Amino acid sequence: MCCDFKWLESVMKPFIVFVSIILIFCLTGLPAEVSAESLEKGRVVTVPILLYHRISSDSSADSRYSVSVIDFKDQMEQLRYWGYSPITIKDLVDHINRGHSLPRRPIVITFDDGYLDVFDNAVPIMERYGFTGTVYIVANRLNSDGFLQVEELQELLNHGWEVGSHGMTHTELTQNHTLVRNEILRSRLDIEDALGIKVFSLAYPFGSLDIYVSSKVFDYGYRAAVGVGNISNHSNGTVYNLSRREVQGGFDLEAFAELLPWTNHFLPSPLRKYLPD
Ligand SMILES: [Zn+2]
Repeated sequence: MCCDFKWLESVMKPFIVFVSIILIFCLTGLPAEVSAESLEKGRVVTVPILLYHRISSDSSADSRYSVSVIDFKDQMEQLRYWGYSPITIKDLVDHINRGHSLPRRPIVITFDDGYLDVFDNAVPIMERYGFTGTVYIVANRLNSDGFLQVEELQELLNHGWEVGSHGMTHTELTQNHTLVRNEILRSRLDIEDALGIKVFSLAYPFGSLDIYVSSKVFDYGYRAAVGVGNISNHSNGTVYNLSRREVQGGFDLEAFAELLPWTNHFLPSPLRKYLPD
C-alpha cells in the first residue's frame, strides 16, 4: 500500500491519550479551594453571625446582654470600614442550600429577645450605613411594654430585615421537651399571623438545643435555626445550629475584631471623631 499510516497512529496515539486525560481532568476537576472535607459535609462558607440583645443609651448599663449606643456605633462604623455587607439568616441559608450569591464580606447581625431599644437605638445607626439585620422575638411579648410591636416589626420588614421566632415564652427547650410543640410551632404561627409573613428561622432560647429539639424545629416548618458558638464557618450540616458570636457590653474594638475574620486595620480614631452622629 502506498499510504500506510500505522507509523502515524503509533506516534499520535500516546499524544491523543495524554490530551484526553488532560481534558477529562479539566472538565471534571475541582477548584483548588474546594477541600475534600467541604465536599463530604457540603458547601462550607465563612460568614460571621453576630448576636446582640439590648442596645442601651445608658453606657453605665453595660452588661453581657446590653451594649451601649456609643460602642454599637463604633462597631458598625468598623464593619463599614472593613467592607462588610450585612445580610439576613435567610440570605445565608439560601446561599448554603441553593447557591444564591452573597455580597463581598457578608455578615449577619442578629438581635435576640425583641427589645424596643433595638428599634430606638440600633436601627437608626444601621440605617445610616444601609445595614439590615435579623431580630428574634418572643411571641408572647408582642404586646408588652419595652418590646417590639407589630408596627415596628413591619417597618423593619419593609427595610429588608428578617423577623424570626425566639419561642413562645423564652423557655429553655432542652429542659422542657413537653413544651416544645407550643414553644416552637405556636410561636411561629402566632408571629406569622401577626405580621403576615412566613417565619424562616428560630433562635434557641439560651442557645440551648439537643437532637430532639433541633429535629422538631425542622418538623415544625423552620428552614434554619441559630445558636451560640465561636465559629463563623457554616455548611448545610449546620443549618439547624448556626453558630453566632456574642457581642457583650463593654467589648472594646479589639475584642470586637477578635469575633470576626477580615479585620486587619482599624478605622483611625481621629477620623471617627469627625463622623456625623
Ligand atoms: Zn433570649
